[in-house]
Amino acid sequence: MYIVKHMKTHGIKPRTHGNIGKKPHNALSFEEIKFVVQFINRYSEDNGLPMPAAPRGRDSEPPIFLPCSTPKNEIHQLYVEACHEVQIRAVKLSSFYSIWSACLPNIQIANPRSDVCNTCERHREHILNARSENEKLTATRNFTDHIEKAEREHHLYIQCIKEAREEHQSIQLPEPPVRPCSTDFLKTHYTFDFAQCVSVPHHSRQVGPLFFETPRKIQIFGICMEGAGSQRNYLIDEDQTIGRDGKNAHGPNTVISILHHHFQNYSMGEKCAVLHCDNCPGQNKNRYVIGYLLWRVMIGLHRAIELHMQIPGHTKCQVDAGFAQIKKKYRRSDCDTLQHVADVVSKSSKSNEAVIIEDGNVKYYEWKEYIKTTFQPLKGIRKFHHFTFSALLPGVVLCSVDVDGDKVPVILSNHDQISVNLSLEIMPGGLSRERQEYLYKHIRPHVRECFRDTTCPEFHEE
Ligand SMILES: [Zn+2]
Repeated sequence: MYIVKHMKTHGIKPRTHGNIGKKPHNALSFEEIKFVVQFINRYSEDNGLPMPAAPRGRDSEPPIFLPCSTPKNEIHQLYVEACHEVQIRAVKLSSFYSIWSACLPNIQIANPRSDVCNTCERHREHILNARSENEKLTATRNFTDHIEKAEREHHLYIQCIKEAREEHQSIQLPEPPVRPCSTDFLKTHYTFDFAQCVSVPHHSRQVGPLFFETPRKIQIFGICMEGAGSQRNYLIDEDQTIGRDGKNAHGPNTVISILHHHFQNYSMGEKCAVLHCDNCPGQNKNRYVIGYLLWRVMIGLHRAIELHMQIPGHTKCQVDAGFAQIKKKYRRSDCDTLQHVADVVSKSSKSNEAVIIEDGNVKYYEWKEYIKTTFQPLKGIRKFHHFTFSALLPGVVLCSVDVDGDKVPVILSNHDQISVNLSLEIMPGGLSRERQEYLYKHIRPHVRECFRDTTCPEFHEE
């Protein structure tokens, strides 16, 4: 009957089901998935505890742990409430779970067993899977080696901080401006890293519409001087990053330019600097940081520099503690402007201080190109974690794998002398027209009225 009808209207053609090519009415649209991803992302920005960079040799996203006091189904509940407020359809719990695990696997609910260190995780698996006595012994030995190594590295860090503090207590602080290598300070210790970014506007009680938008992002780069007990947090607004619209905020040019600014303005005039930082193999940043430090020593800004890279997941360092305090304060505060974020940073603890990057106070330079053309690349850089530079050995870096391992000299430059001139200056990327319009139309309405910028007449509400 139907077949006859089909043949009469369509001729002899295969029949297709009416639903083919159509999406079922209850299928998730791209928009809905995007909303879920955006919600979880924003939720983790507010509540997550980001872990240091992924362990050595791996380029994957570092994990972000959410407090276990709020399980996933409660987060889903918050999401449903937020959806109601903006009147969009909320996805059901099971889809919420599957979108989460498919799109944001690095955001996890913390549990007492979650280990921050992938290497530890792997070693534990090896032990569990070991069959023969011999295998078991080897696996256990490897694990012990790893832990002992981490202990040694941590011990070095503690030792560095202790020395730095003692020195600070015994020497009178120099009057600024401080010239390099000009004071009685022998060693000053620095730790530096990026924090998870924050966004404005941010209201402590907000759940809802803003969770589905992309507010203005502010990056935080912290440099802690443990001896002095101070941490300066550079706030990089979205229009002040090297790339346009907040892009390229974590590249080597940014890191080195800020480090340079910090050395110039806040150093103790010490002869030797000791630096601790996270190892970030994926970003290939290390090569440039090493080049920069070698440059400093070669032109006499320091007599010697030590650079130590930490094992992520095993070190609790001061700079992260400072970030945690900022985060705690930020969560309970209302921020509508960049200045509000700066206030949060400064008030979060006695040691935290904010430095807003604006009007070219911190100049970005093209360090990457300069270092690439001046120094040879360091071969096998990934396996080394400790680097020493000395004015007595110009152009040479001493590398070692372990804290008390052998120091291997590597020549990065054959010249004794090197140009003192800074490389080319880079201007911040600013905001694109689209992003400005988006911020004006979608984000500005969420800013409390008294804090809205009235000096941008370009986009009048239609
Ligand atoms: Zn480990």
